[in-house]
Amino acid sequence: MSIYRELGIEPVINASGSVTRLGGAVMPPEVVQAYVDAAQATVPLEQLQALASKRIAEATGTDAGIVTTGAAAALTLGTAAILARLDAGKMERLPHTDGMKNEFIIAREQRSGYDHAVRAAGARLVEVGFNEIVANAGVRRTEVWEYEAAIAEKTAGIVYVYSPTSRPNVAELVRMARVHDIPVLIDAAGELPPRSNLKTIPASGADLVAFSGGKTIRGPQSTGILCGRKDLITSAVLQLLDMDDHPELWSPPTEFIDVDTLTGMPRHGFCRSMKVAKEQIVSLLKALEMFTSGAYLPLVPQYRERLQMIAKTLSNHPVTCTIVEKNDDESPPSLEIRLDEERLKQSAFDICRGLRGGSPAVYVGHGKLPQKTLVINPTCVRDDQWATLTKRLSDSLI
Ligand SMILES: *Cc1c(COP(=O)(O)O)cnc(C)c1O
Repeated sequence: MSIYRELGIEPVINASGSVTRLGGAVMPPEVVQAYVDAAQATVPLEQLQALASKRIAEATGTDAGIVTTGAAAALTLGTAAILARLDAGKMERLPHTDGMKNEFIIAREQRSGYDHAVRAAGARLVEVGFNEIVANAGVRRTEVWEYEAAIAEKTAGIVYVYSPTSRPNVAELVRMARVHDIPVLIDAAGELPPRSNLKTIPASGADLVAFSGGKTIRGPQSTGILCGRKDLITSAVLQLLDMDDHPELWSPPTEFIDVDTLTGMPRHGFCRSMKVAKEQIVSLLKALEMFTSGAYLPLVPQYRERLQMIAKTLSNHPVTCTIVEKNDDESPPSLEIRLDEERLKQSAFDICRGLRGGSPAVYVGHGKLPQKTLVINPTCVRDDQWATLTKRLSDSLI
């Protein structure tokens, strides 16, 4: 940790989970060691990605996969793969898609800042459905027929953001898309744990699925996974790898990149700017192995105990604490602290600002501030930080 102080920046207590703006997950020592080891040797990256593909395929029950520089990059790569397929000429043109099938259908209610990642590759988003519930103007969610009705000459794919509450049902959507031969790309960035989601989300039949590697898998912040159909993964990796070699010498692993299926040897592709380092690949694989083997599960009861301690400490403060359990038995609980703003004479936003401003700075989950609630996510709080976190909360909430 002292490296940050050496540089002149003070580390914060992150009680909001593995969010990107605070640098993602804290990597376990084993993952850090894998990163360090990987940094001290050299391997051909296409061979390393081919090896990663086998590991990812096994973990996700898919045909193939690659390590990317995040789930957002995986979405861009997935989009580029669906747009260009194995056509080297199209790969060279991206992100310019004039004259190509370039429309991706997305539910209006699933649009977010992350859809930049899809648009970046040259896709044009076509919205379907409405956002009636948020608009307080109706009860219905987006339905499969609405996607089907939007399929047109230029439809290249469907992008779908997965969550347990997403609608329509993803398997039904995929079934419809199959009939029209339209690939489905799923954003499942933050949908782990439960570990089973690594397999059940791809098992929906989706052509490509993106997971984040720097969230609960606890790999480096800028890692992710793209997995799914082999030909699309091949297209993705071709647009990602450094391609500066002689065609006479270029011999990627054939089970990963079948040169005979290509229209030519692509040059550096559109996603060359999202290149993945060997250290990222190796350490993400280590983190994936730990995540899938259940190495993080013993932490869950420890987290629960820590949160209960905070709740106990705050029992005489003008707040109401609730431990919120997730619907699966693998996700850590969180602690919601509902504030009595009148008695505190401060708003939840003021308290949050004060916590960020103090020393050490404390960043709590801010998703429920409009409901006067601070959320404590335990997963990025280090063992040695709990006492200080508890004290800062206790000092601030009086
Ligand atoms: C976090 C997240 C992403 C981005 O993932 P990165 O690994 O940070 O690139 C994309 N979509 C959703 C829904 C997310 O939660």
